[in-house]
Amino acid sequence: MVIIMRTDARQQEIDHVIDLVQRSGFQPFVNHGVERKVIAVIGAMDADKVQLADRFSLMPGVERVALISEPYKLAARASHPGGTLVRVGAVTIGGPTLAIIAGPCSVESRQQTLSTAEEVKAAGANLLRGGAFKPRTSPYAFQGLGREGLEILAEARERTGLPVVTEVMDPHDITLVAKYADVLQIGARNMQNFRLLQRVGEAGKPVLLKRGAGCKVKDLLMAAEYVMSEGNHQVILCERGITTFEDTTRYTTDINAVPVLKALSHLPVVVDPSHATGDWRYVPAITRAAIAAGADGVIVEVHHNPAEARSDGPQALEPARFAALMADLGKIARAVGRRMPRKG
Ligand code: PEP
Ligand code: MN
Repeated sequence: MVIIMRTDARQQEIDHVIDLVQRSGFQPFVNHGVERKVIAVIGAMDADKVQLADRFSLMPGVERVALISEPYKLAARASHPGGTLVRVGAVTIGGPTLAIIAGPCSVESRQQTLSTAEEVKAAGANLLRGGAFKPRTSPYAFQGLGREGLEILAEARERTGLPVVTEVMDPHDITLVAKYADVLQIGARNMQNFRLLQRVGEAGKPVLLKRGAGCKVKDLLMAAEYVMSEGNHQVILCERGITTFEDTTRYTTDINAVPVLKALSHLPVVVDPSHATGDWRYVPAITRAAIAAGADGVIVEVHHNPAEARSDGPQALEPARFAALMADLGKIARAVGRRMPRKG
């Protein structure tokens, strides 16, 4: 249930509503919108919910009460109709300026990461990606540089000013990763690792939540709800391709998910064309499609020598190709009323 207060509601009226929410055995989450306050009511719903909604709707200062049948309440569009802005340093995700997150799949070395960071920045990226803890299908494959990788990412941030997005796979690593990262990435394989979601919800850093390859849009929203119910509402949703019967590409980009997520939720949405296609040749087209469909940004893998990459080489764009894509993307961005990040 969501209680939408009148624009002229007095603080005392808001306090009374919050008080009744609590006395009724529910947890209130107050969204301080620019225009009005919206109070999300969280808790197990029973048969009394209609009666309770009627009671709230009669209280002074209340404009209306919306019963949300979906189980995701904090993530639902109705709980924050204006849309959430996720702030990462000087970058705002979810506003008119696109989030262009780029960098290697894995941090492989200091030199590789620093040079790639400089190159993606020069091409127009406003955030840096790079994995220090890698979720690999094989336990024998490169697992990432761990702490050393995080230190390299922090140095790349210092040199370029680009905030760092990096994956955390294990609740035990959250404190360490949060010390270096600006955005904690939850990988597709961990989208339903509910303990991990709860712990990142407590970490107080923005979260980039990737959709599991076998998960529905509504599962993704429930995963976001896990993070948000711990008090962290700074969540970015990421479509990164789903498993279908189609095998000409690694996964299938669910482009539908972009407008659907924007309709169902107030959280920013980005698309990962690299993992979604698994093939650098298709990355530019899917990047353009994502922005045209209304995504708030993209996360793209870039490598200066894809043939030598220690993970995901076949889907990595060389820096020059990434720069050409960025130059091209401005036209699409303008056509849908968005802006590319300012360079430099
Ligand atoms: C990644 O971003 O490098 C990654 C492993 O992505 P995903 O979790 O979407 O497979
Ligand atoms: Mn990758």
